[in-house]
Amino acid sequence: MGKRKKATKPAPKAKAPKLDTCFDCILCEHEQCVDAVLLRSQKVGSVECRVCHVRHEMTITALDEPIDVYSNWVDEMVKVNGGEE
Ligand SMILES: [Zn+2]
Repeated sequence: MGKRKKATKPAPKAKAPKLDTCFDCILCEHEQCVDAVLLRSQKVGSVECRVCHVRHEMTITALDEPIDVYSNWVDEMVKVNGGEE
């Protein structure tokens, strides 16, 4: 019988301010399933939903953060879904 090893939950004492890289998906409406990745060397930011696998890429600048890529995607989705006349 194996003993329980460490609990898998992360230690709560990380003190570096970590930016959010997980967001809610506006397509499948799951929460915290959209991962934002910034490839700063390639100046590309992408978001991808782990549930419905929707994906979006944009060109980023040095000032962009994961939330910016996510916001850009949300803007695009809103345009596609409701902005056309
Ligand atoms: Zn999704």
